[in-house]
Amino acid sequence: MRKRLIAGNWKMNLHWNEAMSLISELVQMENQSDWTSVDVAIIPPNIYSRSAFEFLKNAGSSIILGAQNCAATCNGAFTGEVSASMIEQIGAAMVIVGHSERREYYAEDASVLREKLNRVLEQNLTPIFCCGEHLEQRKSNKHESTIQRQLEDVVFHFSAGNISRMVIAYEPVWAIGTGETASPQQAQEMHAFIRSSIQLKYGAEVAENIRILYGGSMNPTNAAELLSQSDVDGGLIGGAALDAANFRAIIEA
Ligand code: PEP
Repeated sequence: MRKRLIAGNWKMNLHWNEAMSLISELVQMENQSDWTSVDVAIIPPNIYSRSAFEFLKNAGSSIILGAQNCAATCNGAFTGEVSASMIEQIGAAMVIVGHSERREYYAEDASVLREKLNRVLEQNLTPIFCCGEHLEQRKSNKHESTIQRQLEDVVFHFSAGNISRMVIAYEPVWAIGTGETASPQQAQEMHAFIRSSIQLKYGAEVAENIRILYGGSMNPTNAAELLSQSDVDGGLIGGAALDAANFRAIIEA
């Protein structure tokens, strides 16, 4: 049985005070509710991570801390970079790898993403590996082949044991931050496709156990239907994760 995961990717948003208030509101909500059947993660900008971790720890919260990115290299003269081991040391447990914004704005290609996955796995952190097609690829019916290639170029270089430690996020690029969401049927089709592709490569047990999240304009209105699809195991949430009430509504959907 796969436990749902709802992860909020804050991207480069929120001032310090806003970030700390959001965490505090979420912890209050957690205390008033029963979130035990779902894993909840927040993924703030790295510079807020240590304070976020301390806050969650002192509050006895089960909310997991994640990071939005890490360096492909271990350590050394890489100005501005943050390594996976630094992320591990500040108490984070998850790292996003391959988000479409990193692929597009920072030209992260398959070889960089493979290195990042190596660094994350070496630190015993859980990678959330993102894949997704652009609008033109969907319109020209190349969405499945695009995802297949993204899996083959990066994820399928890893062993079954390592795959079992990953979370996959299907994030159609045309749905990220646009307000346009994949329909529940489109999401289910793509999640089933990803699972069957993993099954072909690694077998039924690995495929059955891996969590596949949907990401792309998930909000309190569309979450319940998306999350009720049999192969949708949670969500990677951008915009709607910046508001405690919206994020809570998705967690409880
Ligand atoms: C994301 O960036 O991963 C994302 C899903 O963003 P949004 O929910 O804002 O579309």
